[in-house]
Amino acid sequence: MTKAGILGGGQLGRMLLQEAVNYPVDTWVLENDTECPAAHLCHHFIKGDIRSFDDVYAFGKNLDVLTIEIENVNLEALEKLESEGIKIFPNPASLKIIRDKILQKQFYQQNSIPTPEFKITNNRSELNQYESFLPAVHKLATGGYDGRGVQLLDKKDDLKLGFDQPAILEKRVDLQKEIAMLVAMNSKGETVIYPPVEMVFDKYLNQLDFQLCPAEITEKSLWKAEAIALSVVRQLQSPGFFAIELFIDREGGVLVNETAPRVHNSGHHTIEAHFCSQFDMLWRVLLNYPLGNTDAILPSVMVNIVGEPDVKGEVDYAGLEEVLQIENAFVHLYGKKETKPGRKMGHVTVISKERQE
Ligand code: ADP
Repeated sequence: MTKAGILGGGQLGRMLLQEAVNYPVDTWVLENDTECPAAHLCHHFIKGDIRSFDDVYAFGKNLDVLTIEIENVNLEALEKLESEGIKIFPNPASLKIIRDKILQKQFYQQNSIPTPEFKITNNRSELNQYESFLPAVHKLATGGYDGRGVQLLDKKDDLKLGFDQPAILEKRVDLQKEIAMLVAMNSKGETVIYPPVEMVFDKYLNQLDFQLCPAEITEKSLWKAEAIALSVVRQLQSPGFFAIELFIDREGGVLVNETAPRVHNSGHHTIEAHFCSQFDMLWRVLLNYPLGNTDAILPSVMVNIVGEPDVKGEVDYAGLEEVLQIENAFVHLYGKKETKPGRKMGHVTVISKERQE
């Protein structure tokens, strides 16, 4: 039986493991928190730091295939494991590009993939030269996620809010919509792509609030988005599952915001709304089975359940009974014991024949 390891034990690992039950696979999780969402769903839980060379190497060396649920893992250990014949999807070379926003943006530029214009700034004094480039968005090269490490800079006065560390300064796009394209590629280089997802962001938390599938976009924008997303994955030359977040501007132009080399929040609706979910699809890639059908069974909406703004402590699922009475609603709770403001605690997917519903 294939031994498969997941680096990280959060909700993505949890939902991946829920799908593993249907395959002949022995599952391993590496994570420091013994009470993490994935801990009790894997066959073997190994307590350890995904950022530590020794922990990642020791975890991976007796496994057949490894994947990640978070980018912040020890890359050197993965490179060594790969050189010793362990399959790692996404491969370390693509992970190296993606997890540094400077390298990621340069990758788009070098491969003629449309992305907002940008400058590299290594510190605040370099940033201060770019007053004429505003309005822009300053993004930390590494370590930012879910809106942390992203700062909007509108005018000269805002430059002092920028980061004094390596970052990119990206031209502000006049957004019409934000969409995500989900793509899987197997070891033979075969690809499949899901219908587009429209993401609606919470302005306060700067993280995904809810999303709709299929996104309502013009046919021309869809063609561009599909071509761009497939091009990103092919040029990364890595098997795996990828979420490509795209901006659609007021003119219908399509630009890559960023890529995640893993299952993603924007793909949670695929569990109930599509023939093959993103988690099932990743197992097919990891275990070398045929890729699945990405078609939607029905239109869907997915809403994140996040911690209340002012509450920190033991979780209480207010309103669960009411939600469970909604027809066609599917509730997923991630089993986190503690809630924090904005923390992702679960999600609900609603599917319906009528998109309007
Ligand atoms: P994170 O990696 O934290 O998700 P993103 O780079 O995706 O950060 O940025 C978060 C959000 O900020 C985006 O979803 C978008 O709403 C807004 N944003 C980011 N870059 C731009 C841009 N160049 N123009 C306009 N809005 C942007």
